[in-house]
Order: sequence, then structure tokens, then C-alpha cells
Amino acid sequence: MSAASTITAEAARRRTFAVISHPDAGKSTLTEALALHARVIGEAGAVHGKGGRRGVVSDWMAMERQRGISITSAVLQFAYRDLVINLLDTPGHADFSEDTYRVLTAVDCAVMLLDAAKGLEPQTLKLFEVCRHRGIPVITFINKWDRPGQDPLALLDEIEQRIALKPTPLSWPVGIAGQFHGVIQRGDGVMTAFHRTPGGATTAIEERVEPVEAAQRYGPDWQRAQEELELLELTGADHDQGEFLAAKTTPVLFGAAVANFGVRQLLDALVAYAPPPGPRPVTDGDPRPVTAPFAGFVFKIQANMNKAHRDQVAFVRICSGRFTRGMTVLHGGTGRPFATKYAQQLFGADRETIDEAYPGDVVGLVNATALGIGDTLHEGPSVRFPALPSFTPEHFAVLRSPDTATYKRFRRGVEQLDAEGVVQVLRSDRRGEQSPVLAAVGPMQFEVAQARLEAEFGVRTTLEHLPYEVVRRTDPAGEDLLRTMAGAEVLTRVRDGALLALFTSNWRMRAIADNTRGLSLAPLL
Ligand code: GDP
Repeated sequence: MSAASTITAEAARRRTFAVISHPDAGKSTLTEALALHARVIGEAGAVHGKGGRRGVVSDWMAMERQRGISITSAVLQFAYRDLVINLLDTPGHADFSEDTYRVLTAVDCAVMLLDAAKGLEPQTLKLFEVCRHRGIPVITFINKWDRPGQDPLALLDEIEQRIALKPTPLSWPVGIAGQFHGVIQRGDGVMTAFHRTPGGATTAIEERVEPVEAAQRYGPDWQRAQEELELLELTGADHDQGEFLAAKTTPVLFGAAVANFGVRQLLDALVAYAPPPGPRPVTDGDPRPVTAPFAGFVFKIQANMNKAHRDQVAFVRICSGRFTRGMTVLHGGTGRPFATKYAQQLFGADRETIDEAYPGDVVGLVNATALGIGDTLHEGPSVRFPALPSFTPEHFAVLRSPDTATYKRFRRGVEQLDAEGVVQVLRSDRRGEQSPVLAAVGPMQFEVAQARLEAEFGVRTTLEHLPYEVVRRTDPAGEDLLRTMAGAEVLTRVRDGALLALFTSNWRMRAIADNTRGLSLAPLL
């Protein structure tokens, strides 16, 4: 096979996705349930890896070793049927986190995981909005059907009404939430009955039940499911691949991750419908095909993953070409050559270097301190992918270290957090070097920043919340004009040198803007 056709074939068998959900909906459980279906990746062109994931149960680690699948807090890669599945983790805080959103720039599809009893929850809605904004197709998995929950039609209605996404169920549950017998495949009307295995330790036992037999066995539950299916037919809620890829409809599946019910069906839906990596938009010119020379972008940076190593890993999503370990690529920002000999598929207790990777895959570059979030790595002529979304901060606080002896470490730590995009760091002459202002989308980011400074850099810090709520981009003239105004302040964002004007309220901002000639204020995006 020619190099280009190998890349085309390898890209076509990749599915790269993330799960979007509200805490407690069952994301970790689903991840483990998916991995029960995993095959070790061993064939040429894919990666055999094993590794540790922090904070997982020990039998999971054991299983991981046994099966040789690779699990990290960033990416879970495994083979299923003929495909290579990359599941990117979205760090789950019950709070806005820019980190989570950036992961969504590196996926081709998302699985929206709902708790059958709770339906759409706040964090799911926020994450869904990011998917919508980026046009990412979404498959819906309604979880916890093994216990009492809402009516299935009501759940579909909620999705359609609240987020204007048309649900097109692929399967339909037999038995109300809490009494789950199995699902009917909408295509052929055949039922798959689920039977638990002890402790859910393996994949569920599935039994194919023909309609006549199912009607006898499940009586009223079967009848009810048939009536609901008829209603669905009337509303034309059928899967349409074009509409799904246009992010207008969402295929829906029902299951119980804890018992592994419906999980294989979810994987099959990913195989059948989730898009493989395709041409990637660039800022100038036509979208870059997967067969173009190697290119990828950094969507996540994480430091000190491993205490023993004290390192920084830059995670690169490959968009085109073939990645081989040790290849020298160019750094999009500076045009400098960048050696990748420390490329790793993952990290953790057991490190595993990788030999090659393809579009859709994620490689971790260790100690790539020259790389920043959003940076491009490429072969051949320069390529630029659209900037990663930067979220508009709404919380601001001055960070200080009371102990001047640790100032150097304080400064290094703050630089690190800035590089990782944990928070945005702002400075001004007025406040001075020692008092950076942290800007965050949600207040939890401050807690994460402080905890990490203490744990990883040994610096205790104090935080003084500032009364600002609104931010706009301004220019040097604006900085001068705002210098003496009450309820406003201008700071420089360290990351890109942007001048940001902060205001105590929208009202204050408008009052100042209306009364100040020559003041330029623009939204941050
Ligand atoms: P996460 O916060 O989204 O990662 O949620 P977890 O995977 O930690 O699950 C939260 C809780 O829901 C745990 O107690 C799980 O055992 C439970 N859970 C997850 N999936 C199911 C399911 O299908 N059925 C039931 N009954 N419980 C589940």
C-alpha cells in the first residue's frame, strides 16, 4: 500500500470521541464498561500500550495490565472490531473548566451521557453547547435504566425541547426504568435481552429474542414498547446520517453501564455512525486532508503527572499524516524544528513509548516545555488550525504568596499554570510582579490553581477576590482612558499580551463606554 492509502485506511478506522455528562451520571462506569469490550491493540499501525490511570480501582488496573489496554486520565485507546477507538477524558468538575472544553476541540464526536432519572443536567448542557458551537455530532446514551427513572418518551421530549436536537432512537427499552429486560433494535424489531453477569465483571450476556417469543415473555412491557415505537414512527424519528453529522439529530440508546447493558450497542453505534477523522479546517486555504503531511495541535498540557518524573506532557491530536517516533517536525509558532523522541502514547506508572500514530490519535510529548496550548506541529509548509476557543473569564482574584522566600517557585508555578491554561494570568505595573491577577471561568479553577501550587511547588498562597464580573478587550488608548475610572481596571494577559479591561458590572461598563469618547471595547472571543 502506498503511504497515502495506508493513512487513509488508518484514519478511516479511527473513532475519536469524548463523553459529556454531569458528575455522577456514570462516566467512569461507562468508560470501564466500554473497556470490557476492548481488544488489545497490537497490529501494525496501532499502538500496544499499558499504563496507569490515577484514582481508579485496583482491579481495574489489574484488568488493564492483563489486557494491555492503555488508560490514562487523558486518553483511553483500544481496539473494537476492526477499529481503533480513542476515548478522550473530559476532566469532570461540577464547575466550568476550560480544560474540559478544550478536549472537545480534539474529538470528532461526543457521547452525551444522561442519568435516566435526571435527564439533562447543568454540566451536560454547558458541554453540549460547546459541541453545538463546534458542530460536533452527538450520540445520546441514557444510563441507569436498571433503576427507576423517567419515562423514555419524556426524556426524548426534554432533549428536543430544551436543546433543539431531534432524538432518533436506535434502540428502544423493554421494561420501564427500574425493570429493564432489554432493548428492541429499531431496524429489525428483534429484541436483545440482557442478563447480568455476577458483579458486572464481564460484558452482559445478550440473548436474541424474536418478537413472538418476546411478546409472550414480557407481556405488558413488550406491548408498551411496541406502542411507543409506533408513536416514534409517526414522528419520523429515524436516524439520518446526514442530519446526524450536521448535528441536528442525535441517535439515542438506552442502557445501564453498571451492568454493561447496552454498552456493546453504543460501541456498535460509534462504529457505524460516528465520523472518522476528516479534513480539518485551517485558517488559510482548503481543509487539510488526512493524507497531507503530518500535522497536529496541542489541546492539553499537564505537568507533574508523575511525581517521580516532574515533567510536562503536551497532548497532541493528530489531524493529518503519519506520526513516527523520533521524527522531527516543525513548531508552528516559531518554525523551529522539534524532536519527538520522547513521544508517548500515555504516561503513568508504566510508560510506553509509541512507534507510530495516525489521524484521530493522541500522542503525549514529554518535557515539551516549548509547546503551548493551541500550538501546531507539522511537517512541510506551515499550517495553522483555527485558534482554540478561549473562554471569557467571569471571576478575578489577586494571588499572593505571603512567604517571600518562595517567590521564585511561586513565579515558576504561576507560569506553569498559565502554560497549561489552568487559569489565565493577568498583570499590570500598578499591581506589580508579585501580585498577578488570576482570571477564571469558574471559581473552582482558583482552587485547583492554589492546590497545585502548594502540592507541586511547595508554595502557600492567598487569594483576594476582585469585584469584577465583566471583561472586554481594549487597546493602549483605552488603558489610558480607563486609568482613573472607578469600577474599572486594565491588565495585560500574559499568555498573548492582550489588554483586558475589567468592569464591576455590565451596567458600569456601559455607563463608562457611553461617556468616554475614543474608548475601544471588544468582546474577548
Ligand atoms: P461519574 O461521576 O459520571 O464518573 O459517575 P460514576 O461512574 O462514578 O457513577 C456514579 C454513580 O452511579 C456510582 O455509584 C455508579 O455505581 C452509579 N452508576 C453508574 N452507572 C450506573 C447504572 O447504569 N446503573 C446504576 N444503578 N448505577 C450506576
